[in-house]
Amino acid sequence: MSVKQNVKNVQASISEACQRSNRNPEDIKIIAVTKYVSIETANEAVIAGIKHLGENRIEEGLDKWNAIGDNVGWHFIGNLQSKKVKKMIHAFDYIHSLDRLSLAKEIDHRMREGRKMKCFVQVNVTGEESKSGIAPNEVTSFIEELKKFDSIEVVGLMTMAPYVEDTESLRPAFKKLRQLKEEVKEKKWLHAPCQELSMGMSNDYEIAIEEGATFIRVGSSLVGKEN
Ligand SMILES: *Cc1c(COP(=O)(O)O)cnc(C)c1O
Repeated sequence: MSVKQNVKNVQASISEACQRSNRNPEDIKIIAVTKYVSIETANEAVIAGIKHLGENRIEEGLDKWNAIGDNVGWHFIGNLQSKKVKKMIHAFDYIHSLDRLSLAKEIDHRMREGRKMKCFVQVNVTGEESKSGIAPNEVTSFIEELKKFDSIEVVGLMTMAPYVEDTESLRPAFKKLRQLKEEVKEKKWLHAPCQELSMGMSNDYEIAIEEGATFIRVGSSLVGKEN
């Protein structure tokens, strides 16, 4: 199926999930995750109307950024080594994987004076050993500590659910992330407006939307998979 048709299909599913949960489809932003595909295919997504692209590797992300440019928002969604921040920071608008103070410190150090990096704090809601992210009970204190870094803006929380067949079973995890987001938002910290929820991938974005996602990260069912 063409990328254009995939985009239409995903938009239709978003509308249905919004209807079920009384939400406005305009409040859900699609990040096309292009880590599996070429620059050409990523560009097809942009032509089909996609406004946000997500990458989890720096070299590939920079290649696409160079080719496609700044008319879309660039999201870094993978594990980020501190020593690599310097290379990528000029190209990306959002980092979805902030999960430690040492990384925050490096981002702060590398950002240009007066500018802010929009960050999502990654939370390991389900406690899987293999996943990175802050434990749920440490989220608030972690975000409070980020206050000392002038260039960090915590726009929201992000999680990655495990792959399961029964996606309904993920609902509690998404609910939990939303609760945590509300807790942080209620603090009204200037450095952490925390209004966004980055959750939901190809397998589970409909449930994530029903539970409050504002950014969904969709790869395979949007742009497919190439080598
Ligand atoms: C790969 C990836 C996605 C997209 O995965 P699909 O299942 O192909 O939609 C979303 N988020 C993160 C963090 C990823 O690494």
